[in-house]
Parts: sequence; C-alpha cells; structure tokens
Amino acid sequence: MNQSVPFEDVDFLDPALQEALEREGAGWAIERVREAGLVAMSAEAQAHGRRAERNEPRLLTHDRFGARIDQVELDPSWHWLLDGAVSRGIHALPWADPQPGAHVARAGLELMWTQANAGVMCPISMTYSAVPALRVDPVIAAEWEPRLIAGELAGMAMTEKQGGSDVRANITEARPVGDGWYELHGHKWFCSYPPCTIFLVLAQAPGGLSCFVVERGAGMEFQRLKDKLGTRSLPSSEVEFRGAAARLLGEEGRGVATIIEMVTHTRLDCVIGSTASMRRGVAEAIWHARHRSAFGALLVDQPAMINVLADLALESEAATVTALRLARAYDSGDTAFRRFGTAIAKYWICKRATPHAAEALECLGGNGYVEESPMPRLLRDAPLNGIWEGSGNVIALDVLRALAREPDGLAAFVAECELARGGNALLDAHLDRLPRTLDPWTARRGVEELALAFQASLLVRHAPAPVSDAFCAARLGEGGRVFGTLPSGVDGAAIVTRTLADR
Ligand SMILES: Cc1cc2nc3c(=O)[nH]c(=O)nc-3n(C[C@H](O)[C@H](O)[C@H](O)COP(=O)(O)OP(=O)(O)OC[C@H]3O[C@@H](n4cnc5c(N)ncnc54)[C@H](O)[C@@H]3O)c2cc1C
Repeated sequence: MNQSVPFEDVDFLDPALQEALEREGAGWAIERVREAGLVAMSAEAQAHGRRAERNEPRLLTHDRFGARIDQVELDPSWHWLLDGAVSRGIHALPWADPQPGAHVARAGLELMWTQANAGVMCPISMTYSAVPALRVDPVIAAEWEPRLIAGELAGMAMTEKQGGSDVRANITEARPVGDGWYELHGHKWFCSYPPCTIFLVLAQAPGGLSCFVVERGAGMEFQRLKDKLGTRSLPSSEVEFRGAAARLLGEEGRGVATIIEMVTHTRLDCVIGSTASMRRGVAEAIWHARHRSAFGALLVDQPAMINVLADLALESEAATVTALRLARAYDSGDTAFRRFGTAIAKYWICKRATPHAAEALECLGGNGYVEESPMPRLLRDAPLNGIWEGSGNVIALDVLRALAREPDGLAAFVAECELARGGNALLDAHLDRLPRTLDPWTARRGVEELALAFQASLLVRHAPAPVSDAFCAARLGEGGRVFGTLPSGVDGAAIVTRTLADR
C-alpha cells in the first residue's frame, strides 16, 4: 500500500526543453530528442543502465602467456548504452551534419541519453570535444575526423599525480624521433575509457608542454582502474607511457592552447550532464510525491513538499535554458561569449547538481536511499562534473583571469544578461550590482552572481511568469539557503505541473 511505481516508459521531453530547442535553433530535432528520451527512460534502457553499473569493468593487462593486452572487459549492457549514444550521433552530430542548431540538438540528445547511464557519456563527450582540437592540424583532422564520426572514440590524458589542474607541472616526456613523431615516456594518473582508439595527451617536448595524438597500442600500458565514488560503469585508468608513438598536434610549447578547444567543449558537456542530473532528480521527486501519501494527503498536495519540488524545478529549468543557450553559442561561433559563459555556467550548474540530487533523493524518503532506486546513483555521479575539466576554484580563477584579459567576453556576457532589463525589478537591481573585477578571495561569489544574472535573464525573457518571478524572488531576493525555501507568493503548483505533466 501507498508505494510508488517505477518512473519508466515515459515521454521525458518537458516544455522547458522543447521551448529551448525551438528557440535556440534546433526545432528540427525535437522528435529526435523525444525519441532519445523515450528509449533512455524505457524499462529496457534503465535495466541496462543498472546492469552496466553493477557489473563493473575489469582491466585485463596480460594474456595467459604473459603478453600485454591492455583490454577492458565491459558488460554487454555498457555496449548497448554506448551504441545507443553513437547511433544517435551524440558523439559527433555537429561535425557529421553541421547544420544550424546542431550543437543545440546534440545537447538535447545528451540530456536525454544521460538518463540511461551517465558513465557512457564520458567517452561520448570526449569524442565530440576532440574534433575541434584535432582541426588545429588539417592533415590529422582529415585522417581522424571521419573515423570518429564513424564511431571510434577519443579520450584525453592530461592529469598526472603531481598535478591535474596545474597541467604545466606535467613531466611526461615527449622525445622527438623525426617527421613530427615523438615517443612518450611517463605516467598519467587519470585516463578515462582505455578502449578509446586515440588519446589527446599533454607532454613535455623540447619546446615545452605540447599536445599529442596517441593511438592506443604498443607503449601505452594501463596499470589499474580507479575504484570510484560514482560513474562506476565507466572505466577510468592509470596509464604508463613506455615509448608510445605520438604525433604532435599544433606547435611545440602550445599544448594548453591546442587542447583548450577540447577542454571548452567538455566543459559545455559538464553543464549539460549536470542539467540532465537535475532534470532527472526533480522528475523522480515529483513522480514519487504524486504516488505517496503521508498524514492523510498526497505529498504533492502538501505545501511544504510543493515548496521543495518547485524549488528543485526552478533550478532544473534554469539549468536547461542556460545549457541550451550556451550550446547555441557553439553553433553561432560567438567565441567571446562562449568561453566566458561556459566557464560561468560550468562553475554554477555543476556546483548545484550535488545538493540538488541530495534534496531530490530526500523527497523519496527511505526509498530514495536504497540501491534499487535511481537516486543513489544520481547522487554518487553528481560531484564528478564539478571536479572534471576545472574544479570550482580553478574555474572561478579562470573567470577572474578572463575578466582581466578578455574584456570582450565580459562585454558579450553582460550584453546577453541586459537583454532582460526592465522585465523584473530584482533582476534590474542585480544587474546594476554585477562585479566587473574579482580577486581570488571573492572569485566564487562573483561567479555565482554572474551565473544567477545569466539564468535569471534567460528565464525572465523566455519562461512563464510563475517560473521567472519565483526564480528572481528566490535567488535574487528573499529565498533561503537550502532547497524548499521559496518565499511566499510563489505559484508552486504551476511550476511543478510544468516540470512534470500530471498524466
Ligand atoms: C572520474 C574521473 C575521470 C577523470 N578522467 C580524466 C581523463 O580522462 N583524463 C584526464 O586527464 N583527467 C581525468 N580526470 C582528472 C581530473 O581532470 C582532475 O582530477 C581534475 O582536473 C583536478 O585535478 P587534481 O585531481 O590534480 O586536483 P588538484 O588540481 O590538485 O586540485 C585539488 C583542489 O584544489 C583546488 N585548486 C587547484 N588550484 C587552486 C588554486 N590555484 N587556488 C585555489 N584552489 C585551487 C581545486 O579546485 C581542487 O578543489 C578524471 C577525474 C575523475 C574524478
């Protein structure tokens, strides 16, 4: 009695995402995105997602004769999930079919397929992101782009024991052997998805830190897989380079500048991944509240719960409109806005994902805490996007540097936020207070203010009044510190119904 039913076999395309797809230039992809959501939320896909997570990958370093093989054994469900992402073009859509709105369409597809399993999206993201970096060298790009589009995958190896954020501390050595080829010697402390065909690797060449393309094979020895908090379906390894053949990508000494395009695109994917997490969390929470009664009434009809659900919904919708607006900047080639906006959104949306997942889990009570529920996985996976491709402080300091060195970025970003001026008094006041410079002590706070301005301005311009008014009131006005502290006067029921239709 009084138990919920699985939230499966549902149409996961919500109005906020559908409207954003249309607005940002990917109206043509709506049915594709809907299909990806229907399949990802099917009982079959959910079962594959659980199975891939439970049957963890196993590293096979040697064959029975002692020869190195460096293979990873993966559950068939992993392959089902990965094939589902590749067959929908999530790894390469904008490169395979560069029509207007392709990055936005891909963002929508990624938002959906992440619902099946977040781990598989890691190699998918890295492959998507590797292409713009490979294009630095037209010869290398001509060789690899078609192979990646066809479904071979690309990874990255930057992090070493002594430094992940600070890649300039890398000591992996690249010894030139002629004709743009090098041999790599050294160790990488994190290298996700060993089955990738190629890896973009940073190493010290005679001319300084440089970027290389390495094809998996001899001289690349995977030592062990990480025993991780989350994304347990995804093999993340430690790897030793013992003379692996590497091709220089870009110029010697320009490694960071070369790989930055890959980094920027993976940061966009961190934003999309965290948005997907929030969307799932609030949808599961609302679903449960519609099926569970306490103290004589359905949870979804009780004001204290409506406040929590509506607050989670606001965060999810704000993330959705932000992620898709950002994706459009990748379609339009608006580089100043793109780089600045991506860093700000990456900081804030990835930071919000973990408390969001925890609060959504709590809405399910004890049922949210057991492993048969999707909530523990959602919570375990949530912190990753915050760490990867720039942890909180690193991103905040990146924005600080961009403020000083790239004034075009701030100008483009503020101009975007200003488009909503006059639409909400709290937002207008917030825009007047936006920081123009930061120091390391105030960096996080400043980035938070910029992120809120961006989200509020998008909602004021595009969301129904109950959503935008509530967001501005809660985030720029009288809201509290945890989810579920929306101020009086908010139409919580309208926000909840918009987020998950009551069928
Ligand atoms: C599941 C998973 C998969 C990964 N896959 C890959 C992969 O495929 N390839 C790869 O190259 N890497 C990968 N990584 C590594 C990841 O990119 C790094 O962990 C990340 O960049 C942080 O680097 P670090 O671990 O060395 O931490 P550090 O750089 O030591 O940072 C530790 C803390 O210090 C803070 N900090 C750093 N600098 C400053 C500063 N100047 N001021 C104040 N605070 C600062 C950071 O914000 C962070 O909170 C993966 C990590 C995980 C968890």
